[in-house]
Amino acid sequence: MLRVALVNMPFADWNRPSFALGQLSTLIHREFDDRARAHVCYLNQDMAEFFGIRLYEALSMSHDHVDTGIGEWLFRHIAFPGEADTAAEYFQRYYRGARWADFRAQILSARDGLREFCEELIDRYRLDEADIVGFSSMFAQHVPSIALARLIKERSPQTLVVLGGANCEAPMGSVIAEHVPTVDFVFSGPALNTFGEFVQCVLDEDLERADTVPGILSERNCRDPRFRKAIGAERDIDDFFLPDYDSFFEALDGHPELRRTGTSKPMLFFETSRGCWWGQRSHCTFCGLNGESMAFRAMAPDLAVRQFEWLFGFAPAYTSLFCTDNVMPRNYSREVFPRLDPPPGAEIFYEVKLPLSRQDLRAMTDAGVTVVQPGIEALASSTLKLMGKGTTAFQNLQFLKNCEEFGIKPEWNLLIGFPGEDPAVYRKYTEELRDFVHLVPPHGVYMVRFDRFSPYFKRSDEYGLALKPVDYYSLTYPFDESALADLAYFFADQNLAPYMLDAVEWHDELSGLVTQWRAAWYGEDGAARRELRLVADDDGRLTVRDSRSGALRTHPVDAVTGRLLRRLSSPAKPEQLARDWPEGPDDLRQRLDTLTEQRFLFAENGRVMSLVLTGADGEIEEPAREEPATVGSRRLLPLLSEAPR
Ligand code: SF4
Repeated sequence: MLRVALVNMPFADWNRPSFALGQLSTLIHREFDDRARAHVCYLNQDMAEFFGIRLYEALSMSHDHVDTGIGEWLFRHIAFPGEADTAAEYFQRYYRGARWADFRAQILSARDGLREFCEELIDRYRLDEADIVGFSSMFAQHVPSIALARLIKERSPQTLVVLGGANCEAPMGSVIAEHVPTVDFVFSGPALNTFGEFVQCVLDEDLERADTVPGILSERNCRDPRFRKAIGAERDIDDFFLPDYDSFFEALDGHPELRRTGTSKPMLFFETSRGCWWGQRSHCTFCGLNGESMAFRAMAPDLAVRQFEWLFGFAPAYTSLFCTDNVMPRNYSREVFPRLDPPPGAEIFYEVKLPLSRQDLRAMTDAGVTVVQPGIEALASSTLKLMGKGTTAFQNLQFLKNCEEFGIKPEWNLLIGFPGEDPAVYRKYTEELRDFVHLVPPHGVYMVRFDRFSPYFKRSDEYGLALKPVDYYSLTYPFDESALADLAYFFADQNLAPYMLDAVEWHDELSGLVTQWRAAWYGEDGAARRELRLVADDDGRLTVRDSRSGALRTHPVDAVTGRLLRRLSSPAKPEQLARDWPEGPDDLRQRLDTLTEQRFLFAENGRVMSLVLTGADGEIEEPAREEPATVGSRRLLPLLSEAPR
């Protein structure tokens, strides 16, 4: 029997299973019966203990560390032995200064023991006895996987080492096939079909056949453009089978320390769609998320409901569920969520595209979809237009207000530095951000990144960008410039263009304001959670409670102003409002002036909207549009009948 070890390397989050490896494991059990056996090995959890949970969580989750490539760089000496130690140069470029001295020492000390620990893990999981060792590589898992591949090959040259995952999509995968001899095969793009074909080739002892499959790269075929640029054929999203999470549960049981000391709750991944229904219409300029496969494919509602029922069966041990979709299918609010009966405490994460109607939000929260990544990115409509987001600042603020009402936790960043972004946007932010502290703050202020597959990358000339791989690639991989250009996912503009200089100039001030916003929101400044809310007492008298400054102020308002605040839950032009304002235009002007002085309004491009929560917020400013029907035919195949744990 063929023994297949599927390895999840650092810096994958310790608290979630690998969806890709779980699916491959099931695939092997399903298609090869007693001819092959797979096991998913969560070496990332062992590594989390090795590094210490706090450092590991920082390296795997923090935006700052993802941008420096530290997780990749740490394994360079094992992946590419004999190459120069770039520590001095690396720390000259990243983590400079006294502020980072302890961190640098911690990293160098961990690096010293890393090779020995990797050897120990090969023993522990008997990886050198496997016939095939497969790595799934996303984010900073690439060099750690190459490092372990090399150590396994040193001990056991006959073990076939293969690598797949998002980091390997064409042309990135071809660089590994060409330059890393310890990786035998690389899977570009979806691998649910190609990996099965590959295992069959191994069983047939016909590896040459694998070289003829588009989506499988080796040292022999990787220079041939037919293979270099190819991705594997996709399996229909409705040809679905449950991922094998048993190895994850076992691994977690073996690391009780992580559960005890980690800040994150264990959660389970699931998938209900691929691609992006918005992106296929208007690709957001910075987004490289979908590789070359933007076309939207959503799972049929019946199948999605059954998948949710399977996931709910893991409660109460696992109530946090994390969707891998890049965007939530819009029809699910009507066709899936109302059919769900989530267990107590269920918390489902989705990436969503705004605007969302109140009916959508109600259906989502009733089904337990209470954590979302809404892609807010900016609070200026001009910037949102530049990035092709299809939203306005009003819609973003309206959504943040609705989150308060519906109890939804939005995860978002404030991005700056879009090519062509006007610094007037940053000036306006400095005047406005204090007004928003009663709403969920962003994680931070970040410069926009230029990612492979994004319009900024594909049409860099059009945007005046001179893109090169960010610096950590050359400090980590001993490859020439052209190989690095094909390997990299993150790029930087070499032009010192005005848009970049402006963003750099404003970054620290905006960051400071967001830090204050976060402190106010999380009560770190000692004051209670901020509010800005219209309330009525038992006699119907209206008051706006405003504690955004840290001290509560109450502003009595009459019924007419109450009506105006509710009307301004959606943005309006004052002159339009004035046309049918029963109390006349002068009355309206006076009331708007007062509300503006009290900083209760957000204004942009001649329109105003209330920032005050009234309990009727978020009547979306325009009806949500339907996405086109999902692509492709639907084949409803039965789910595997695995008993929930
Ligand atoms: S950023 Fe989100 S909405 Fe925009 S194209 Fe990418 S996945 Fe789609």
